[in-house]
Amino acid sequence: MSLASYAASDDQSRGRRYQESSPSYRSEYQRDRDRIVHSAAFRRLEYKTQVFVNHEGDLFRTRLTHSIEVAQIARSVARSLRLNEDLTEAIALAHDLGHTPFGHTGQDALNACMKDYGGFEHNLQSLRVVDELEERYAEFPGLNLTFEAREGILKHCSTKMAREIGDVASRFINKTQPGAEAQLVNLADEIAYNNHDVDDGLRYGLIELDQLREIQLFAEQYDEVQKLYPDLVPRRRIHEIIRRMINRMVVDLVENSQRLLAEAGVTTADSVRAAAQPVIGYSEELRSQALELKRFLRSSLYNHYRVRRMSRKSALIIQQLFETFMGDVRLLPPQYQEKIEACKEAADEPETCRARIIADYIAGMTDRYAIAEHRRLFTPETPV
Ligand code: MG
Repeated sequence: MSLASYAASDDQSRGRRYQESSPSYRSEYQRDRDRIVHSAAFRRLEYKTQVFVNHEGDLFRTRLTHSIEVAQIARSVARSLRLNEDLTEAIALAHDLGHTPFGHTGQDALNACMKDYGGFEHNLQSLRVVDELEERYAEFPGLNLTFEAREGILKHCSTKMAREIGDVASRFINKTQPGAEAQLVNLADEIAYNNHDVDDGLRYGLIELDQLREIQLFAEQYDEVQKLYPDLVPRRRIHEIIRRMINRMVVDLVENSQRLLAEAGVTTADSVRAAAQPVIGYSEELRSQALELKRFLRSSLYNHYRVRRMSRKSALIIQQLFETFMGDVRLLPPQYQEKIEACKEAADEPETCRARIIADYIAGMTDRYAIAEHRRLFTPETPV
């Protein structure tokens, strides 16, 4: 099946930061995807969590399985809308590369540590990972991804930061849209986490079926499953409900996006960027239902006292690691000390440069590495 005229395509790509010859048997976006899969940051996603700490249990989602679920959902929708599936997959697999250990708590804690040094934001960090931090290729820093993949990874950005980043962030200054594939991954991300957090929350006993039956999106699927299979064991019942919720959201997204694309009359990828509104989105009805579910998860799951206890411990680990390394950089592994050494000559603000390198080190840690590193620094019995 051919791509839609508004899909991203190799021949209209804005290219890579460092020029390279085209791959022989792959598209440019396949190459992007492949570079992401082979990166160190991608492998670390296996031991990073979103809501639950990794060692809590083997069945919970990690950032790796989350990213694969996002890619699965996004690719299905991309194929239905005849968008570029390879680019969609690349953005989906890379979208969380910049996350700190311990999910959003980790990011908030690191952001607080970095408040005098330009702050910390996981989206910007994802871009930093693919543009600079991956050290793998002889001829360029980072993964040298296409403009379109980088545009998709950079989901939010302040205008101040956008001025520093330049080209790939210009839409945050001009108030334009990203390409359709980027818009799509953003929503696939939401579909994935809203549903798997319900699943993990139930499994962990942090939320109850009865609470969820107050939420329309869940209740409708619950009623249908009860009617069809009244005697189903709980695990199967939950999966039957969740697969229907995902399906409901995906079908709505496809059908409503078809309508939006037609209404906007877009004919090229650049006309998608110039359109007044996003061209990929839910219907009004589903949007408010998804919002209701999101609010419920925020109040009942993400703020559950047991989640908050884990969050507090995680925040302390991040904060103490940061303060300790800032206080004495000689405690850092040698390769980070070398980078900090270079700050003295290169940057006009050595302290900001040092803080950023320490933030890169901490952000790159997996949950279990951060816990182990904290032990090595703070627990006398633990070998250093
Ligand atoms: Mg995500």
